[in-house]
Amino acid sequence: MDEKKLPEGLKKQLGYLYTLDFYRKKMDRAGISPRDILSLKDFEGVPFTTHGEFVKEMDRNNPPYGSFFPPGVVRINLTPSGDHLLPIFHTAKDLEFMHQVCHRSLEAAGVTRNDVCAVTFGYHLFIAGLFYQGQIETYGAKVIPLGPGETSRAVDIINRHNVTVLVANPSFALKLASSGMNRIRILFAGGEPLTSVPGYKDRIRQALGQELVIIDSYSMSECIPIARNCAMETGLHIMDEFVYAEIIDPETGKTLENGHIGELVLTHMKKEAQPLLRYRTGDLAELVETPCKCGRYMTMPRGISGRTDEMLKVKGVKLYPSQIKTIIEEHGIGTGFRLTIRSEKGADRLTLTLKDTSGARSKTESLRHALRKATLLNFNEIVFSDRLEEGPRFSDEREMEKRK
Ligand SMILES: [Zn+2]
Repeated sequence: MDEKKLPEGLKKQLGYLYTLDFYRKKMDRAGISPRDILSLKDFEGVPFTTHGEFVKEMDRNNPPYGSFFPPGVVRINLTPSGDHLLPIFHTAKDLEFMHQVCHRSLEAAGVTRNDVCAVTFGYHLFIAGLFYQGQIETYGAKVIPLGPGETSRAVDIINRHNVTVLVANPSFALKLASSGMNRIRILFAGGEPLTSVPGYKDRIRQALGQELVIIDSYSMSECIPIARNCAMETGLHIMDEFVYAEIIDPETGKTLENGHIGELVLTHMKKEAQPLLRYRTGDLAELVETPCKCGRYMTMPRGISGRTDEMLKVKGVKLYPSQIKTIIEEHGIGTGFRLTIRSEKGADRLTLTLKDTSGARSKTESLRHALRKATLLNFNEIVFSDRLEEGPRFSDEREMEKRK
């Protein structure tokens, strides 16, 4: 893996990034020139960009928005970030390329030119509505810019115009189904966790039809699109002509091999306005290389499984609470649990308390095995209780014990 050559597109993009003040300064400070970056291993030496740096660069007044605002910008989207609206820029070429890379996934989802699509994402300020509108139009299918809200009117429009493809939050799709929406063929979902929530797709199919193709997606305002599944539903494929994805150890910054959970880091392969270079998303995922029938191969099998800022260090190993939650849910052991971390004679001790539901106890061993496999940790105790106390699901009592 270390010897892998730097993809041609990435090499070209690094040359472009070096013409932008922001990235040139970063590379100069690290003593790196794009000319020296020949392999993916070399690329791992390129400094990361944090969200803070990204935002700060745009605070500069002259020229407006620092390096991220080339003369060719034609669109400024605004997206909520903390207490302000973060501007997101695109040149005409950026928009064209963004739409073009989605055509492959529309095709892999089974969308045809005869389909009538309805987009229920917002069209003002945010990027989501226009993003789907643009990719579907340029693909050549028909699309109704429906926008969010007004459920009964939306159902009426969808049914009256024989909509076959719906673009919606999963929860809004369920609401439309319960309000009398006719069967659709394909759902493009986004904006809420779906793949990472066990059983959610089943619930959607119960409401919208067992034959429904569900296309989940992951993206962020700073980088859209990032990943989508195809009709095979084998996990979220990275749209790798658009973005180069890496998984790093959030603590050491080292790139991790495929199959390990860590922080997702993104680099635009070809973006003119506001390009990202080794951008730390703060989102946790794992990447696996599984060639799919649709032609894609780099996949996030479980989507996004949490945030780096939730990380705990137990027995010297990183533990992500969201991982535990997912595994418990996959075992179908109720909803209640509490993980307590204590320190006993200097050693960390993990106790998982589960709500005693029918059949839960019989799954203890397979749960213990799954937890060890996913986290590399031995859970000292897995106990059952009729009722769980109120309070947080994760309780780190080590600091408290030290102070005693
Ligand atoms: Zn596929």
